[in-house]
Amino acid sequence: MSAPKPRLEIRNLTRRFEGKTVVDDVSLSILPGHVTCLLGPSGCGKSTTLRMIAGVDTQDEGEIYLDGALISDNQHHIPPEQRSIGLMFQDFALFPHLSVAENVAFGLNGPKAEQRKRVETLLGRVGLMHHIDAFPHELSGGEQQRVALARALAPKPRVMLMDEPFSGLDNRLRDGIRDETLALLKEEGTSVLLVTHEPEEAMRMADEIALMRGGKIVQRGAPYNIYNAPVDRAAVSFFSDIN
Ligand code: ADP
Ligand code: MG
Repeated sequence: MSAPKPRLEIRNLTRRFEGKTVVDDVSLSILPGHVTCLLGPSGCGKSTTLRMIAGVDTQDEGEIYLDGALISDNQHHIPPEQRSIGLMFQDFALFPHLSVAENVAFGLNGPKAEQRKRVETLLGRVGLMHHIDAFPHELSGGEQQRVALARALAPKPRVMLMDEPFSGLDNRLRDGIRDETLALLKEEGTSVLLVTHEPEEAMRMADEIALMRGGKIVQRGAPYNIYNAPVDRAAVSFFSDIN
């Protein structure tokens, strides 16, 4: 049997700002239905990598492929809205003037009845059907986060990019929402690239971890392999606060 084809593949991505290389020859792939965590300290180039994949920034060098098709290189650049890539960022603001239902339906096309069905399925799944007609300001932070997840998943993106999606949340809520989010992502079969600076989050959520430092991927592998056999002293100390 041949190896499964990656859903997302980036090859040799490089980005410089004012002569400083902040993403340095990064290659990565994500298998369909897998969660890959891009893990590394603040400032190492994680968000810049994600922004290039989303298409809101452009690499200086390298290529990006979705399901084997080139979406960006030196000559080609498919615009963000045509990439079928879902986004969830830390300050994931919902549209304040739209109801919960309208927020979740925002990226949907086609017959209204089908849109409604998808909205109800997802809101039911995140336990918020009773708030379907509420407005964002009427919800708690955790509830808003769940609506944002439903909104990002509604159009069934081929890849979901999540940049520190839980860091705005109260510690008390975070573990629960991480677990719920992971369960829903797995149920939907979504392929995910999740950026975090917290080793614990990557250990909890990832099928594969890509450890990043100073713009480079320094190690890739299954969470426990990386945890048990960190590539060097810096990686050991990075993981050392997890028990
Ligand atoms: P991370 O998400 O890992 O914290 P970033 O990708 O946001 O890191 O940033 C990596 C480095 O690139 C940082 O030093 C940051 O200051 C720099 N950087 C990011 N975006 C820009 C920009 N638009 N202009 C100049 N420097 C930038
Ligand atoms: Mg960042």
